Amino acid sequence: MTQVLEPKDMEWLSKGVLGIQWSDGHKGVYPVRYLRQHCPCAACTDEWTGELRITPDDIPMFVAVQDVEPVGRYALKFNFSDGHDTGIYSYNFLRKNCQCDICVPVKPEQPKSRRLM
Ligand SMILES: [Zn+2]
Ligand SMILES: [Zn+2]
Repeated sequence: MTQVLEPKDMEWLSKGVLGIQWSDGHKGVYPVRYLRQHCPCAACTDEWTGELRITPDDIPMFVAVQDVEPVGRYALKFNFSDGHDTGIYSYNFLRKNCQCDICVPVKPEQPKSRRLM
């Protein structure tokens, strides 16, 4: 499949949750804090291993997006309220990390033994 993946539309679903309508018909859901916690820039994510260099808990609870800029025709750059603006989020990265109920099914009434690693 060589369909070009790109955002058709963007809207705030609620405070701090970005919705992206993708060209493949999927409606993506992206909590801003999640995006900040998974920033793909070299300071936040190890380029070689893909492991996060930041501790997700270190990200402020109420981080916001102040600006979104398109980067070429393949990515978005977010300016976060904590001053971080070096992350280039490619469309593929965003599509893959969608946090909607379909991509990340909500598990009903599971005991809280979810492992972090
Ligand atoms: Zn970063
Ligand atoms: Zn999804």
